[in-house]
Amino acid sequence: MKVLIVDDSPDALAIAKARLVKEDIEIVCAENGPVAIELTRREKPDLILLDIDMPDMSGFDVCRILKEEPDLKMIPIIFLTGSDDTQDRVKGLDFGAVDYVTKPFDAFELRARVRAALRTKRLQDMLVQCASIDPLTELHNRRALEDRLDQEWARSRRYDKSLSVVMIDLDNFKNVNDTYGHQMGDRLLRTVAEILQKQCRTSDFVGRYGGEEFIIIAPENDAQETVTLAERCRHEIQEIELLADEDKVHITASFGVADSNDASDLEAVIRSADQALYRAKSLGRNRVETSMPAEVASTADIDT
Ligand code: GH3
Ligand code: MG
Ligand code: MG
Repeated sequence: MKVLIVDDSPDALAIAKARLVKEDIEIVCAENGPVAIELTRREKPDLILLDIDMPDMSGFDVCRILKEEPDLKMIPIIFLTGSDDTQDRVKGLDFGAVDYVTKPFDAFELRARVRAALRTKRLQDMLVQCASIDPLTELHNRRALEDRLDQEWARSRRYDKSLSVVMIDLDNFKNVNDTYGHQMGDRLLRTVAEILQKQCRTSDFVGRYGGEEFIIIAPENDAQETVTLAERCRHEIQEIELLADEDKVHITASFGVADSNDASDLEAVIRSADQALYRAKSLGRNRVETSMPAEVASTADIDT
């Protein structure tokens, strides 16, 4: 785990570092507030030991800024200070710090407090992880997908890049469950999840949206580029062959692809991908469809 120590005094930094050298942690140091904030954004430490009394930007200010950033606000902070003032302690804890240590600190106590804070951080990371993972497929769950969609939408607007979304729904999946049982259905879901994960780039985000529905978020790609990915996934899924006694079980999936170009909001992108998926189902399943401009879609022959 990684610990950031922030202190304007090089001596104090060196002492704190020496006290923690026996712990199995990586240590990063900053000598002022702005550098501490920059390092926190870049290095995402698991714990910050933060001096309060620093020129220009106090530890309280650093803490307030970090607590305002969604990505950083969960990083625990222990205030380090020469002051033994109760008001400062209260203020520090009310600012969201997990602990408070006065200098000169006892080496054993400092180490024990750091270990305690890191233990809690580990648990916290585990809970965050569990809350965003689908236990059956080990893909991201719906909640994680929704968070990521919001982030990627904001990013695509900010940098004027396209963002595409693929909605995937397994075909006639209810029949598989009815014929071969729920366990076989679960095996198929896991196999499909593996295929989707394998076909995607590391910058893509794959998740299980619900029952037998999956979503791929492909940043910086437009729908045409993403169709190629969807076609690859479709092909691989079609090749799945699982054995059930004497039978070979197969499955196919339908895909709807849309991108953020011309979309006024994220909901519009999702709606387009959903409509494209609906069309893929109507046109016979086991196919990839993209969103169409409104006038084309309205005249398209969709038999449902
Ligand atoms: P379509 O091609 O129109 O999508 O037909 P479908 O049968 O796939 O669609 P439908 O929505 O009727 O059925 C979805 C089925 O997915 C019903 C449900 O029992 C099954 N399902 C949902 N979640 C799970 C799961 O976690 N495990 C298993 N085995 N089945 C699931
Ligand atoms: Mg479905
Ligand atoms: Mg289905």
